[in-house]
Amino acid sequence: MSTTRQELLAHFDGLLQPERFKDYGPNGLQVEGRGEIRRIVSGVTASRALIEAAIEAQADAIFVHHGLFWRGMDGRITGWLKERIRLLLAHDINLFAYHLPLDAHPQWGNNAQLGVQLGLEGQATFGEQNLGWMAAAEFADAAALGRHVEQALGRTPVCVGGERPMRRIAWCTGGAQGFFEAAIAAGADAFITGEISEPQAHLARETGVAFLAAGHHATERYGAPALAGQVALELGLEHRFIEIDNPA
Ligand SMILES: [Zn+2]
Repeated sequence: MSTTRQELLAHFDGLLQPERFKDYGPNGLQVEGRGEIRRIVSGVTASRALIEAAIEAQADAIFVHHGLFWRGMDGRITGWLKERIRLLLAHDINLFAYHLPLDAHPQWGNNAQLGVQLGLEGQATFGEQNLGWMAAAEFADAAALGRHVEQALGRTPVCVGGERPMRRIAWCTGGAQGFFEAAIAAGADAFITGEISEPQAHLARETGVAFLAAGHHATERYGAPALAGQVALELGLEHRFIEIDNPA
């Protein structure tokens, strides 16, 4: 089975509704490749390693969470960016990228799928553009929650604060440390995200709300394969997720 680039784009856009978001870069087709699509490779980031792996896998399209173009770039196609784009164009591979719309999708998105991994069922959203998720849970304290996260993600989280029972767990995947105050305001006992910055450690100690940083990559590697897998199923395409490990 195969489909067209336009049909594939329409399916991604239909599910992810990028027009609903204020984002840091363009969502959708970022680099145009061949018109006929049989095989999709999904990944977290459009890095050179992922593009090379997709070439090896003879992919017609790549679907990622972190694409190539972000607000604030100076617009020059040189160095590492030139190399990534050169590889895509030379092999006529389409690059589809969806940032916030992929975080937010209620079933196949990063937050929904991290919830599945952690056994947390999102009951409410909070924060900017409703990107944060909240669930009821039962953990003795932050250390117990940390062990649970470690077991689920295969990665030891940085854990600050939270020497009390954890009943309301908030999360937002990736670099969402800026959502911590909104999580505190929303009544969370703990907030799980990918990265921590200096101020959050103090806030965690002073409010008693636990902050768990479980890795930007580790928390965001579930949405792209879930969404691309669903679209591949609907259109009868081949799909494979390629994990490019990242310690950050
Ligand atoms: Zn991210």
